[in-house]
Amino acid sequence: MSICIEQVRKSFGNFVALDNVNLNIKTGELTALLGPSGSGKTTLLRIIAGLEQADSGIIRFNSEDITGQHVSERGVGFVFQHYALFKHMTVFENVAYGLTVKPKKFRPSKAEIAKKVNNLLELVQLGWTADRYPSQLSGGQRQRIALARALAVEPKMLLLDEPFGALDAKVRAELRRWLRRLHDEIHVTSVFVTHDQEEALEVADRIVVMNKGRIEQEGTPEQVYDNPANPFVYEFLGNV
Ligand code: ADP
Repeated sequence: MSICIEQVRKSFGNFVALDNVNLNIKTGELTALLGPSGSGKTTLLRIIAGLEQADSGIIRFNSEDITGQHVSERGVGFVFQHYALFKHMTVFENVAYGLTVKPKKFRPSKAEIAKKVNNLLELVQLGWTADRYPSQLSGGQRQRIALARALAVEPKMLLLDEPFGALDAKVRAELRRWLRRLHDEIHVTSVFVTHDQEEALEVADRIVVMNKGRIEQEGTPEQVYDNPANPFVYEFLGNV
């Protein structure tokens, strides 16, 4: 699923959160939206998701104009920083959730659900946690389960908002490698928001550097790091 963003604007009152943003994301790419706090990253992600509507501009998925489409029609999977798993459900039930709430007509059989959930738990190497409750897992393990849950419904794209933001440095580093490995295995078009330069440089295929509601630069990590387009990007990446 490719994503095309054309001239997207979004204001909150007098404040311009996104100022004529244009961006193309290719099918199967892992893209990082990188920038300081308040630069518009989350707003852009929410507009791609359909959780927020732009004031003007067009969003296309695979060239199709889906600008007004509701989040439920867009086929996206989410992982948020504080998107807690359901506490009263086991890991298995959490990962199965998106499948069990499908309308009857589209709902897989119990056996199919079990097979799928077990495969996903294997993918994130947490098969042994199936009968546990989220409170019995570490923060890093919980986010891996959140990834498995997001993938259960076979989303057309995966949107991640500071997915590792709440974790300590060592676990973050481990999860970066996880996300990269997972992406290499499933190749689902993914966009993740981060303010952490190192995270973006290490994990992403492409980096989009944002500042004050605008895109300052986009490119591969090498392009952005070796050839910062302007003083802002240079300074922002300076401490990596
Ligand atoms: P980032 O993800 O880069 O930190 P955001 O997209 O969350 O930035 O926010 C960009 C700016 O828009 C911030 O200054 C924020 O305060 C403002 N903003 C975001 N959402 C709202 C909202 N619902 N109402 C008012 N202001 C908002």
